[in-house]
Amino acid sequence: MSGPRSQALQQRAERFFPGGVNSPVRAFKAVGGSPPFIERAEGAWLIDADGNRYIDYFGSWGPMILGHAFPEAVDAIEIAGRNSASFGASTAAEADLAERIVACYPAMEKMRFVSSGTEATMSAIRLARAATGRKNIVKFEGCYHGHADGLLVKAGSGVATFGIPGSAGVPEEIAHLTLALPFNNLAAVEMAFAAHPGDIAAVILEPIVGNAGCIPPTPGYLDGLRALTKQEGALLIVDEVMTGFRVALGGALELYGLDADLVTLGKIVGGGLPVGVFGGKLRFMDLLAPSGPVYQAGTLSGNPLAMAAGIATIRYLQEHAGDVYPQLESTTKAVAEGVAAEAARAGVPLAMNRVGSMWTWFFTAGPVTNYAQAAKSDTAAFGRFHRAMMEQGVWLPPSQFEAAFLGTEHGEAEVEKTIAAARRAFQAVRNV
Ligand SMILES: *Cc1c(COP(=O)(O)O)cnc(C)c1O
Repeated sequence: MSGPRSQALQQRAERFFPGGVNSPVRAFKAVGGSPPFIERAEGAWLIDADGNRYIDYFGSWGPMILGHAFPEAVDAIEIAGRNSASFGASTAAEADLAERIVACYPAMEKMRFVSSGTEATMSAIRLARAATGRKNIVKFEGCYHGHADGLLVKAGSGVATFGIPGSAGVPEEIAHLTLALPFNNLAAVEMAFAAHPGDIAAVILEPIVGNAGCIPPTPGYLDGLRALTKQEGALLIVDEVMTGFRVALGGALELYGLDADLVTLGKIVGGGLPVGVFGGKLRFMDLLAPSGPVYQAGTLSGNPLAMAAGIATIRYLQEHAGDVYPQLESTTKAVAEGVAAEAARAGVPLAMNRVGSMWTWFFTAGPVTNYAQAAKSDTAAFGRFHRAMMEQGVWLPPSQFEAAFLGTEHGEAEVEKTIAAARRAFQAVRNV
């Protein structure tokens, strides 16, 4: 599917990087074919090394909600760069971005910047253990919270893509402290608290699962988790690295009227530069060094270029939220439902889950309300669909178990082209 230049670049990359990549899903192992190398991107479009153009439906795995090369972020990064890329000392930009974040996420009474979502969730877990003096954590099957040891248990994303239960190299003693339960099943969480009385530090979740494909919470589930954690003295950590600024300005917390003890953000908050944030209630956040005994640090935390890109992105979202989110909703609805209708016409079983501008076409009759149901998807059929779409210039996330995204630069023309491509691709799926 990729052209000669991309193939040559892949061969060269394989000399230096395991699998030729610096993050596993980029290798396209789950869908077959070799991955195109990107030269640049503009708005909703990716342009590869051979000059092929693709409509981008993964948006750098979430961040590019305002489209590629969003002019205000490009300018902000350029200006910040001229003032030097890093100081390792405080700048006003950190509080400028924090002020915008807390306006959207009032649960984040204090916060700390890190450089990735992985660091944010890892640090939130350490804080929760320190705050409670407990060891165990509860997570949910198919939820991905980055690649820290204790969180790579029945994780989604690349781990689900490659069909492995966790990761080699994670000591049993550490994996043992993580209880992985089915999503959307409150009784399972009640049973876990009963089985480990007074020893669960936190429940961490993706409020809308994105890393097993898109799986929304069933009504009452999130409120149930909030009530249960409160009652049991455990912290509720809502991982909004994907959903933050995506499903609403205030993320899933705003969308579902949920409160959290700790919240993690990443992806959009950095406007395409490496940023993560964790934050929450004062009484927990003040346990962090240098105020308290929980150590956490980062040489490039709050990096000026990253803050500049984040501020430009979040400022735009805040100032245009009234237009941006309804527009994302209607564009996504058109493409997600339009393609699902083509599947129905072609007789291909498909379950489509969507919340705002994140969604997944699961190649199964459905419903998909947890990871076990998502895993019933026909991944070979998804692979054929993916390849047929790539050949027609539509770049979907290269795994059945990853949510798709679009941004404000996707318009009617892109939607129509995508639906027409899907019509042909479903024929390719069927004709085997
Ligand atoms: C992407 C993601 C992470 C990890 O973020 P990185 O920046 O890749 O480390 C954590 N949690 C969720 C929900 C994510 O989607």
